[in-house]
Amino acid sequence: MKENNCIFCKIVAGEIPSNTIYEDDEFKVILDASPASRGHSLILPKEHYADIYEIDEEAAGRAMKLAKKLAIRMTEALSCDGLNILQNNHEVAGQTVFHFHMHLIPRYKDAENTDILRWEKETFTAEEMSEIRDLLR
Ligand code: AMP
Ligand code: ZN
Repeated sequence: MKENNCIFCKIVAGEIPSNTIYEDDEFKVILDASPASRGHSLILPKEHYADIYEIDEEAAGRAMKLAKKLAIRMTEALSCDGLNILQNNHEVAGQTVFHFHMHLIPRYKDAENTDILRWEKETFTAEEMSEIRDLLR
């Protein structure tokens, strides 16, 4: 299903140009237009799902399978030294395009841009950690 005014639906439909590196019946994979590193790519399901909460469980599994394949292919082709897989949900988590996507971010040992996926660490008391654990299990 295509969502009106969704930039990734438009890319999937070919209405907006993209640098496509992979395509099948279910996914299109494009170069990120404002990359964090050389080869930064985005896996887009052709179906419109806003985020991880909306995406069909099986489709999410297939997206991760594709990420696995592309990680190998990209690492060979780009000679990168590692790769981050990132997926943001909701504005507070950094999502800016509300069509589910997975980032594949190649990482290079000698990269000048080291400010990728770094966060300040928070600390919780042992009691708080127990509470959080109990809340989540
Ligand atoms: P997120 O912040 O996780 O929602 O990621 C959205 C990503 O989409 C950002 O890294 C943008 O640079 C990228 N992006 C936005 N518009 C386009 C576009 N037209 N073509 C390629 N990438 C895009
Ligand atoms: Zn969409």
